[in-house]
Amino acid sequence: MKSVFNRAVAFLLSVIIMLCTLCSCDMLSEVGALFGYGRIKAHFLDVGQGDSIFIELPDGKTMLIDSGENYHGEGILKYIKDRGKSKIDYLVGTHPHTDHIGSMPYIVRNFEIGSIFMPRAGTNTEAYTSLLKAVRRKGLKVTKAAAGLSICDKEDLKIDVVGPKKIDNENLNNCSAVIKITFKSNSFLFTGDAEKAELEELDGDISAKVLKVGHHGSYTSTTKDFLERVKPEIAVISCGKGNDYGHPNKSVLKLLKNSGCEIYRTDKQKTITVTGDGEALSVLTGGEAIR
Ligand SMILES: [Zn+2]
Repeated sequence: MKSVFNRAVAFLLSVIIMLCTLCSCDMLSEVGALFGYGRIKAHFLDVGQGDSIFIELPDGKTMLIDSGENYHGEGILKYIKDRGKSKIDYLVGTHPHTDHIGSMPYIVRNFEIGSIFMPRAGTNTEAYTSLLKAVRRKGLKVTKAAAGLSICDKEDLKIDVVGPKKIDNENLNNCSAVIKITFKSNSFLFTGDAEKAELEELDGDISAKVLKVGHHGSYTSTTKDFLERVKPEIAVISCGKGNDYGHPNKSVLKLLKNSGCEIYRTDKQKTITVTGDGEALSVLTGGEAIR
């Protein structure tokens, strides 16, 4: 009886080894690519004067960093559903200003959410309290986004919160969750509206090939020193056409140009999608605007 069992185990093992040999890495990655796996796709949505970035991660999961104003919810969810996705695995509200979390209560109420991350900023704005209420009603709880938190730690895919290091209730921009995503040699840095004071404090390796330029391209966020640390090849500015703030600032555009990176702007090129296969990056402009 024992020998029959041993023979069965040996046979099963040989079948498994044969299947593993047949399914080479190339085949597996081709099958994965059919489902959109094995690539990272960051969609910088044109939400006018605000931020919203939808990310399709190489492991099939999804992330939404910010969600524009309170009238953008329906358009953002349509955009996500049109990409065949039915869940936001990681939802990040970088800081409690309405141009970043305006439609987040709607999104939490109307879509499946895995985890939600926000800095613990002390504020009582309507957008913030209604978001906390929507999160509570759904039985979710907010994970504190602060420097040192790891959202995903796989061999090829890392999602790290690199800021804020501290909370500045006098200036909520400087409470912004700063996120770095690394997929093989593709790296992205999303800075919310963090200004110089917060950006200068960030520790460790913040280099990234793709930079979501801080605070809609305001002069308060981008410095020569910061660009020398990040060394971006692609810079994306999210701002509204003819906005009242003069974003992006001319001096910031000059700094970015002098640093040698390609500059993309949602006010000029609508929704911008940056795709990476772990090595090369490509950029597509002119995607649909969310209004
Ligand atoms: Zn903003």
